[in-house]
Amino acid sequence: MTEALYLASDDLECTARVLSCRKTQEGLWAVVCDRTVFHPQGGGQPSDIGWINEVVVRKVIHTPEAIVHLCEAALGGEVSMAVDAKTRRLHSRLHSAGHIIGFVGDEYGWHATKGNHFPGESRVVFEPQNPEAIQLTEAEVLQSEVNALISQKLERRITEIDGLRYVTWGDLRAYPCGGTHVANTEEIGKVCISKIKMKKGQITVSYSLEP
Ligand SMILES: [Zn+2]
Repeated sequence: MTEALYLASDDLECTARVLSCRKTQEGLWAVVCDRTVFHPQGGGQPSDIGWINEVVVRKVIHTPEAIVHLCEAALGGEVSMAVDAKTRRLHSRLHSAGHIIGFVGDEYGWHATKGNHFPGESRVVFEPQNPEAIQLTEAEVLQSEVNALISQKLERRITEIDGLRYVTWGDLRAYPCGGTHVANTEEIGKVCISKIKMKKGQITVSYSLEP
């Protein structure tokens, strides 16, 4: 098991000990450490990138046993980790925006079920219990409601209930989540809702962020 430091802290650097290192079929090295600041791909959020010592970490994945860093060279012993701050910040902003959109949609009774927070293809998917009864709203209306919440500068709150980590800001409804999040909603900046689409009982809200 790898201790996931990113769950409890926004620190982007740490030291760690390499537990295993093996070559992959793609010619990268799969490095497992006793702990990590790298957020692996999952929950709709892309993985962090960065460096372990001077070695580039291309991607980080989660297996049932461990968090695996896919690196450009072999590593061993005590190492220093550093997450690329710019990429982490963008991913946290996109992912946090997904939470806020999910919250507003849920207030409409849409029922958020999943999200994709990759840059350029970010979207939140809702699966209403009774799609025929759902009234869609204009993208502009949803956008202004989302941005109104963000502009309230709400502080992040993380709580643990029955072993699950719940994340929210201010008094908004909390969702169980293992992703990375901005400490204050104002860091998200302005959200642009490009499209709201209803198809086969699913509502998909596509969005992006102003740089
Ligand atoms: Zn989250």
